Amino acid sequence: MATTVFERSRPDQRIVTAALDGSRLKPFWLDDLPPRTAFPRYSGTRSADLVVVGGGYTGLWTALQAKQRDSGARVVILEAKSIAWAASGRNGGFCEASLTHGELNGANRFPREIEQLTRLGIENLDEIEATVHELSLDCDFERTGALAVALEEYQLEELRAAHNGTTEIFFDAEAMRAEVNSPTYLGGLWSRRETAMVHPAKLAMELARACTDVGVEIFENTVVTGLDSELRSGPVSVMTKDGFVAADRVALATNVFPSLLKRFRLHTVPVYDYVLMTEPLSDAQLASIGWHRRQGMADTGNQFHYYRLSADNRILWGGYDAIYHYGGRIRAEYEDRPDSFDKLARHFFTTFPQLEGVKFTHRWAGVIDTSSRFCAFFGRARQGRVSYAAGFTGLGVGASRFAANVMLDHLAGLDTERTNLQMVKSMPVPFPPEPAAYAGVQASRWALNRADHSEGRRNLLLRTLDAVGLGFDS
Ligand SMILES: Cc1cc2nc3c(=O)[nH]c(=O)nc-3n(C[C@H](O)[C@H](O)[C@H](O)COP(=O)(O)OP(=O)(O)OC[C@H]3O[C@@H](n4cnc5c(N)ncnc54)[C@H](O)[C@@H]3O)c2cc1C
Repeated sequence: MATTVFERSRPDQRIVTAALDGSRLKPFWLDDLPPRTAFPRYSGTRSADLVVVGGGYTGLWTALQAKQRDSGARVVILEAKSIAWAASGRNGGFCEASLTHGELNGANRFPREIEQLTRLGIENLDEIEATVHELSLDCDFERTGALAVALEEYQLEELRAAHNGTTEIFFDAEAMRAEVNSPTYLGGLWSRRETAMVHPAKLAMELARACTDVGVEIFENTVVTGLDSELRSGPVSVMTKDGFVAADRVALATNVFPSLLKRFRLHTVPVYDYVLMTEPLSDAQLASIGWHRRQGMADTGNQFHYYRLSADNRILWGGYDAIYHYGGRIRAEYEDRPDSFDKLARHFFTTFPQLEGVKFTHRWAGVIDTSSRFCAFFGRARQGRVSYAAGFTGLGVGASRFAANVMLDHLAGLDTERTNLQMVKSMPVPFPPEPAAYAGVQASRWALNRADHSEGRRNLLLRTLDAVGLGFDS
C-alpha cells in the first residue's frame, strides 16, 4: 500500500511533545470571549408565538429571522447550557456557501437541483455578509475564499478536473508555495467567493446580541425535556424542569443532541473532531509561510485537515481523525484524546517545518452531527406546529442560516423555493441501531484510511455505501 506524505515525512517527536506541552483543554474561541453575565434560567409558565430550542447558530438565526419577518412576534430561545458552548462555539469558522457539504456531494445526491442549490448557497452567504454589516456583528468576518491543496499526484489531478475557471484560481506547485509555503504542496485551487472566515464564538454571541436587541428572550441553563400537545391544534407545551412555555410554533435547533422527536434519533450520529490552536505567530514566522491572502485551507484526502489564521495570526489546525463512540455517546471526557492531538501536531509540523518551536495554546474537540447524506435534513411534527433541522455534518456555519429559513417557511405554512427543494423534501437513510452502527462506522473509517493509501480509490464498501446513500463523514 502507498504511504501518505505524513508517513513519509515525520517531524522529531520531541518537537511535537514540546509544542503540545502546556496547552489548555478548551476551545480557543470561547476562551477569547469577554466575560459576560449569563442569561436567566427559565421557570414558570408563559405563552409565545415561537419557541426555539437550542442556542447555537441554527437557533439564533431562527429567532433573529423570525423577528425580521414579524417584529411583533413573541420569540423565546431555550438553551440547555450556554449560547454557543457546543459546535457553534468550537468550529473552524469556515462560513461556506455550500448547503450540501460541497458541490460534489450535492451533485451526486441532488443532480437535478445542484445549480439551484449552488445559487441559493451563494445568496445565503451574501445575505450573511450583508447582515454582518447591517447589524455591525463584530465577528472577524473576512471573505477570503478557501484554498484546497493537493498533497498527492492523484489529488492534483482531481483539483485540475474540478477547476471551473471563473471564480477559481489554480496554482501549480511553485505558485502554490509562493501563496502559502509548505514542502508538502503539489498544487492548489482557490475558490474566491464561496467561503468567509469568522470567529465562531463571536458570531454566535453577536447573533445573540442582535436577537435581544429586537426583543427575543433568551434563557440559558434550561433543558427542554419534552413537547406536549394533546390537541390537533392549539399551542404546544415546551416542557422544562421548572415550567413550560405554551408555544404556537416550535423550532428544534438541537443539532447532534438527542432529538425531541424520537423518530429522528437514528438520523444523525455524533462524531468527534479534534482541533489545535497555536500561539500568535511572530512577523518572521508568518513571513516564512506567506499566506498574505488569509484563505481558509484544507487538504484534499478522504481524511483531511482544515486550517486558517485567526485575527491575531494564530493557526487553527483541525480535522483528520473522526471518532465515534459506541452507542453514539456524547461525553465531556471524550474531548481529551492525546493520540488525536499528537497526530494533528505531527501533521502540522510536516506541513510547516519552518514553524518548529511554535507552541499550541489550546486543544479541544467538538461533536459533528453526521447525517448519512452529509447535509441537513428537515422534519415536521404536530400538524406543522413543530419544525426540526439537523445533520449539517461539519458544514453548518453558513448552512444553519438557510436551515433556519426553511424551518420558518415550514412553520408559517409557506410554499417557497426553499420548501420545494428535493433536498428539503427528502430524508436521509437513518443509521442502523447498535451494534451495527458502531461496526459500520469503524469499517467506513478503515476504508477511508485505505483509500488515502490507494490514490483515493474507494473500495467496495465505500462504493456500496455511496450507492445506497448511507455514508459516513465528518
Ligand atoms: C470541531 C468542529 C469544527 C467544525 N468546523 C466547521 C467549519 O469550519 N465550518 C462549518 O460550516 N461547520 C463546521 N462545523 C459544524 C458547525 O459548527 C455546526 O454545523 C453548527 O455549529 C451547527 O449549529 P447548531 O446551532 O445546529 O448546533 P449547536 O451549535 O450544536 O447548538 C445546538 C444547541 O442545542 C442545545 N440543545 C440540545 N438539546 C437541547 C434541549 N433538549 N434543550 C435545550 N437545548 C438543547 C445544545 O445545548 C446546543 O447549544 C464544525 C463542527 C465541529 C464540532
